[in-house]
This record gives sequence, C-alpha cells and structure tokens, in this order.
Amino acid sequence: MSHAFADVSRYFGRAARVLKLGSDDQKLLETPARELRVECNVRMDDGSVATFIGYRVQHDNSRGPYKGGLRFHPSVDIDEVRALASLMTWKTAVVGVPFGGAKGGIAVDPAKLGMRELERLTRRFTQGIQDLIGDDKDIPAPDVNTNAQVMAWLMDEYARSHGFHPGVVTGKPVELFGSLGRDEATGRGVVIATEEYLRSVGRRLAGTTFVVQGFGNVGSHTARIVHELGGKVVGIGDHTGAFHDPAGLDVPGALAHAARARSLAGWGGPSIPPKELLLQPCDVLVPAALGGVIDADVAKELRAGLVVEGANAPTTPEGDEVLGARGIAVLPDIYANAGGVTVSYFEWVQNIQHFYWEAERVRAELDKTMRQAFAGLVATKKAHGVDWRTAAFVQAIGRVHRASELRGY
Ligand code: NAD
Repeated sequence: MSHAFADVSRYFGRAARVLKLGSDDQKLLETPARELRVECNVRMDDGSVATFIGYRVQHDNSRGPYKGGLRFHPSVDIDEVRALASLMTWKTAVVGVPFGGAKGGIAVDPAKLGMRELERLTRRFTQGIQDLIGDDKDIPAPDVNTNAQVMAWLMDEYARSHGFHPGVVTGKPVELFGSLGRDEATGRGVVIATEEYLRSVGRRLAGTTFVVQGFGNVGSHTARIVHELGGKVVGIGDHTGAFHDPAGLDVPGALAHAARARSLAGWGGPSIPPKELLLQPCDVLVPAALGGVIDADVAKELRAGLVVEGANAPTTPEGDEVLGARGIAVLPDIYANAGGVTVSYFEWVQNIQHFYWEAERVRAELDKTMRQAFAGLVATKKAHGVDWRTAAFVQAIGRVHRASELRGY
C-alpha cells in the first residue's frame, strides 16, 4: 500500500498552517467526496477471463466538475488514486481552471495486454464508472500508460448509454473531437513554468542544461520543446534505460527512435546506469515518470539548480525537505505540470461549444494561463515567505476554501 495520500497531507498541512485554517475546515477540504472501486472482468484473447480492479476517486467539486486522469499501472491502489485526485483539486485551483479534482486508475500492466484486450478493459471500466462521469460531472483524461486511443474508447462506450457527449473525456484524438495542442500541453507547460522561473532570476532558457526522466507524453514533449528553444538536454531516460552527454543529446534522434520503438530501448545514444540519471549535473532536473523518485537519499546527491516536477508527486516530503535545506528550488507538480489540465479545459470548452480552435490560439491561451499563475505564485510566496510548493498549496487551498464557503456546506 502506498503512503501517497499521507505525503500530500503533509504538504497540505504546511499550507493550511500558513492560512491558519481550523481543523474542521482542514478535514473538510482534505477528505475525498466519493471513492468507487470497480471489478473489471475481461475476456482475454486466449479465451480465459481475467479480473482487474479499477478505481475512480472524486476529491472535490466546489470549483467545477471533477477532473483528472486515468492511469494503467501495476502499482495503482486506492491510496495512490486518492492522493492523485487531491493533487488535481489543488492543481486546477492553482491555474484557475473551473474544475475540481478526481483521478482514476486500473491495477494492470498494459504491456502484457494486446490491443483488443486493452480496449475491452477500458470499455468494462467505463461501464463501471459511467453513472459518475459526464461532461458536467466528472471528466477523465490520459495519464501514465493511457493515451488518445484509450480516451476514444472511453468516449465511445459512454455514448452507447448516454448519447453524444464528447466533453465526457479529454485528451481525445484530434480526429475525434480532441484539441490541437493537447498532446504536447503538459510538456509545453513544464517549459513555460521553467522559463518563468529562469526569467525571475534573470536567466534565459537558451543554453540552460536539462535532465529529463521519463520519455512518454510529458518527458518527450518537454525534451523536444526545450531543444527547439535552444536549451541543452544532457540527460534523458525511461523504464528501459538512461542516456547522458554533457555536450547535449541528439533529441530529434531519440524522439524518432521512441516514435518507432515506443521506448528508448535500443537507441544508440551514450547510455549510463538508470539510477545515475537523476544525479547528473544540470541546471534543471525534470522528473517526468513516476512518483516518489526524489527521496531524501537522491535529494542529498542530486546536482541540479532547479527541480521542475513534470510528474505527479515525484518528490517525497523527506526529499523535499532536503532540497529546501540545500537551497534547491522546486516548482511543484500542482503548478509545473498543470499545462495538461489547462488544455484539457480548452478541449472541454471546444466540445461544449462545438467550435474548434486553431493551434495558435491553444498555445497563446496556455501561455497566458501558465504565466498568470506564476505571477500569482510569486506574490503568494513573497507575502508569506514560503517555498514554491507551499505558495502553490496556499493559493489553491485558499481558492477551494472560498468556493466551498460561498456555496455553503
Ligand atoms: P507515459 O505513460 O506517457 O510515460 C511515462 C514514462 O515514464 C515512460 O517514458 C516510461 O518509460 C517512464 N518510466 C516508467 N517507469 C520508469 C522508471 N522506473 N524509470 C524511468 N522512467 C520510467 O505517462 P505521462 O502521461 O508522460 O505521465 C508521466 C508523469 O506525468 C506521471 O506522473 C503523470 O501523472 C504526470 N502527468 C501527466 C500528464 C499528462 O497530460 N499526460 C499531466 C500531468 C501530469
């Protein structure tokens, strides 16, 4: 069992003390509204029946419909989903998109399933949660090991019982009511957040060195955009291996390989032992894979000037304390990776209005949202004399608290 929810609670508690929130309010804001566990029985290609367990946790909807991704991973359990759902509540509030927070997950290793098995599993899970979701109730999106195809199946299965509602899920294929720019949105948001931080300390992205862990949706787009903007990507890695070159890696080559091979396995770049990736010297370290990778031991040894959390909860509270003591700034997940939910919001707006935007508009609105949120964090950080993460939680909890109060308990 993970202790991810307890970890988020520690960050929450730190900010709640800054806000001087009473214990009743703290309890109310922290407690998830609804938790659903779904048994998914799936006919496998060999004729056998396999059973998978899925979850959907709806944390808070005082600022709008529940919103949050769907993850397929063997380590998924209720505690992890609960933690990720609460992070979504704070994330949507930090960037000011009119949603609450939710998360879903199925405990499964999708690499062991064929395409048709994955489709049947997604449809079965959708049947299990269909009464709780909807474009004005709860809107899933992609997360680890789920993609636009999985979202298309979810939309289609929902439509069988509820009719045409493309806004029931975001991160759909562009050919099927998705938004231009959603695919790269989280990575682009990570880069905008980094640019804003660098600007605040009088530096520029061009020439800045990056190490990026994870080469899936978030990591690969982050590396690509950093490279396009003249940043130097010196380290990358995924679950199959890690690569490092202080002179800068061939990012387009790695992207082309990963597009073909669906991972970095077999790429000819200069490889290093995977556990050394996070410890390579760089200006900016972007963990963009799984949670908990920067614990106290890693935090003591890493040699980055700034950590930008592309992944959700990549830093443990113990790791966070060490980084703070070492003076290494951390742009927290609930701000740094909020570009994804921001463009999910734009996709939902387009679906509701049946009017589709050009890529330039999506980018400009994302840019504006991320930069405005950063300005808000700077002000909150200064007003309370706290670190970036606490500033982000203070901002978010304040907004959700105010919305709950205005609605009445
Ligand atoms: P993904 O499935 O597309 O990619 C995950 C990547 O992590 C893959 O490259 C995988 O190889 C790598 N990885 C897995 N285990 C690893 C290990 N032990 N060591 C090194 N690398 C490993 O997932 P994603 O959508 O890119 O999500 C990555 C992180 O970003 C997650 O924490 C997710 O919750 C978070 N996130 C995603 C989005 C989004 O829009 N997709 C938005 C916000 C936050």
